[in-house]
Amino acid sequence: MLSYRHSFHAGNHADVLKHTVQSLIISALKEKDKPFLYLDTHAGAGRYLLNSEQAERTGEYMEGIARIWQQSNTPVELAPYLQAVRDLNPSGQLKYYPGSPLIARHLLREHDQLQLTELHPSDYPLLRSEFQKDLRAVVSRSDGYQQLKAKLPPQSRRGLVLIDPPYEIKSDYQAVVQGIAEGYKRFSTGVYALWYPVVLRQQIKRMIAELKDTGIRRILQIELAVKPDSDQRGMTASGMIVINPPWKLEQQMKSVLPWLHQQLVPQGIGHTLVEWIVPE
Ligand code: SAM
Repeated sequence: MLSYRHSFHAGNHADVLKHTVQSLIISALKEKDKPFLYLDTHAGAGRYLLNSEQAERTGEYMEGIARIWQQSNTPVELAPYLQAVRDLNPSGQLKYYPGSPLIARHLLREHDQLQLTELHPSDYPLLRSEFQKDLRAVVSRSDGYQQLKAKLPPQSRRGLVLIDPPYEIKSDYQAVVQGIAEGYKRFSTGVYALWYPVVLRQQIKRMIAELKDTGIRRILQIELAVKPDSDQRGMTASGMIVINPPWKLEQQMKSVLPWLHQQLVPQGIGHTLVEWIVPE
């Protein structure tokens, strides 16, 4: 089943959180000269047109990136992420939103590498053509979870693995944990960043319990909620679970999340959280 299209949601509060964390991890990896691999298991289309029918229909980006991208007093932690958004919109109109592969493309250096997988028959060709001239990138139409076995460890022995499935099938909540365990067996020093939606809190609690059971250590949880938890339909919060986070990430997110929450949820409901699921 591949009915999910990210174009309906591009630039929403969940993307703002995900791409802030992604860009801070990439910036930290760049502090060493040694190359690294950026592996994106569920890459999406790469670029999203915000005045498309899909994006306009939900208008989610209006309560996400549109609220912060042109502000002048933004916290320093947002600089790499917002620069990627601004560079894609040089006219000053918010026309395009960069998905995770384009944020990575913007931030990676000449000697780093990108490995991107996307299964959707419409999004895959868009992603492939976006990277046609980028010699650092390999784009494949294959199952993202398989890549965690096939592409790890990277030759450089350094890397960020972003796992961002649509969770349209319930088994994704287990598949992500199995996938991480497989990846970690092969590449235990890599940074793994898993995105999750909070629709039913119980599902996330179960997923986290299963992740703890793997025995993996150094697991940081980062969350931004725009509403209180609920048993009704719809996403109330989203988060990132980061394994082997760069040492500054905890402090960076503790410092930037209250500001982000204030901008994205001016009504003041919901919450933010930065907490170790499993410490050192
Ligand atoms: N990571 C993207 C970003 O931040 O811009 C968004 C990705 S979107 C949430 C999830 C994507 O995963 C969808 O485009 C969907 O078609 C794709 N997908 C679903 N199942 C997949 C699988 N098993 N392997 C690879 N891609 C998959």
